[in-house]
Amino acid sequence: VHLHLHETDGEVASAVSMSGMRPMARMTQLGLMNERLIAVHMTELNAGEIDQLVEHGVHVVHCPESNLKLGSGICPTAELMARGVNVCLGTDGAASNNDLDMWGEMRSAAFLAKGSSRDPQVLPAAEVLAMATINGARALGIADETGSIEVGKAADFCAVNLDEPETQPVHHVISTLVYAAARHQVSDVWVAGRQLLAQRRLQTLDEADIKQRAATWSERLKQWA
Ligand SMILES: [Zn+2]
Repeated sequence: VHLHLHETDGEVASAVSMSGMRPMARMTQLGLMNERLIAVHMTELNAGEIDQLVEHGVHVVHCPESNLKLGSGICPTAELMARGVNVCLGTDGAASNNDLDMWGEMRSAAFLAKGSSRDPQVLPAAEVLAMATINGARALGIADETGSIEVGKAADFCAVNLDEPETQPVHHVISTLVYAAARHQVSDVWVAGRQLLAQRRLQTLDEADIKQRAATWSERLKQWA
């Protein structure tokens, strides 16, 4: 079950006024608090609710840029991860983020955790990279198939060109990826061994057609506005 849960204090308050229960209590009552629940956002958590996440092995998806843009609040990622909760990284939808850029999400997740805890040592770069990769695969229950580059797993990976002036010199590859690299530096992408991006050119999708369809839908949305 994938559910956007405890996204804002207003959402929690309206659930309480309608049902007398916070949403997580309702989920517990429905028998949905378990390791098959993927809970997105989770910015409004009390101590008892954090205990429940730990106890039931619920996965959390942190969407830092959506939470920041919409003023939703801050998910206590460092605390959750220290308690052993699997926290992965998402973008939320285009209506609340706008760029769906996982590189931006990685950097924002790191900065938000450090800034809100006033501790530059929480959520180090390697943990943030894990949130964007293997932790997501764990949440989906497919960590034995993807999420890291290992013999026996699917060939799912991208190549990042760190040779550009803005990421030179490279002292530490993971720090450079998380704190300095940007999405335009992704040069090649493979999914299950099939190359979908080669030297920044889409291999299976028609870019002109995508732009044309975006323009068409933009016009239609204006008619509904
Ligand atoms: Zn959402």
